[in-house]
Amino acid sequence: MKDSYKIIAAKISEGGKIGEAKMCVRCKRMFTYLGFGHYYCPMCKKADEEDFAKVKNYIYDHGTAPAMEVSEKTGISLERINHYLREGRLEIPENSPIFIKCEMCNIDIRSGRLCPDCASKLTHAMREKMDFDDEQIGPVPKKMTGKMRFLTKEK
Ligand SMILES: [Zn+2]
Ligand SMILES: [Zn+2]
Repeated sequence: MKDSYKIIAAKISEGGKIGEAKMCVRCKRMFTYLGFGHYYCPMCKKADEEDFAKVKNYIYDHGTAPAMEVSEKTGISLERINHYLREGRLEIPENSPIFIKCEMCNIDIRSGRLCPDCASKLTHAMREKMDFDDEQIGPVPKKMTGKMRFLTKEK
């Protein structure tokens, strides 16, 4: 079930304060954040960009694709694809039957970690504790009311 959602690309996002110590989301080492991209240390950043480009290019070439297929074709693990969704770098299309869940209230969201409602209730301290940033606020899908909305591809 968790693997059967489809994914689409993607917003490129920046986050974090320059000079802050951050744990690399990929290798878990601490590093000093230099103000670009997500929380990857310089070593992982390059590898991650290459991985993410594979996923993004596959989606651009094939349109909306199941996460499982993207993983098989690109060699990028489902775990990483899920991570990209949680980071807000990939989204699940509006017309998908399956979504990921808000970490707090469990409502369906298309990307990120929290629905806008829950995110708006977070205090600054909670945001810090959860390492949560605005890119991780996920849009709640508009439930199938007639027309399906398709997102245009962006280059
Ligand atoms: Zn790293
Ligand atoms: Zn929520």
